[in-house]
Amino acid sequence: MTDLINLIRGKCPNCEKGNIFSSRGNVFLFRMPRMHRKCENCGYNFVQEPGYFFGAMYVSYVLTIAEMIAIMVIVKFMLGLGNLYVFFIVAVVAVALSTFNFRMSRTIWMYIFRKKKAPEQT
Ligand SMILES: [Zn+2]
Repeated sequence: MTDLINLIRGKCPNCEKGNIFSSRGNVFLFRMPRMHRKCENCGYNFVQEPGYFFGAMYVSYVLTIAEMIAIMVIVKFMLGLGNLYVFFIVAVVAVALSTFNFRMSRTIWMYIFRKKKAPEQT
């Protein structure tokens, strides 16, 4: 459960204290989220190898489809709006959530393939 909370908060997959992203990004200001290369707290390398986040695209795809289906169900079946409204509302929500999906997909990808180090003995 704490893993899920740390994932949503964007914490380091190793120590769960350092932040993965230095800025959250804002799609309306054309700013993409910025990532630290290494954890500020434990030095965990977030970019394990070149092209490491290529697979995060698939996670992003799944997230976006799930959000679109959820929004479509809410708009079409709960609010009873027409197909054109559904299309535009889904498109606007997909754009609005794009930086969130960017951060979440990379974080989920790192949590899937993390190699947790044992805490150092002092
Ligand atoms: Zn860390």
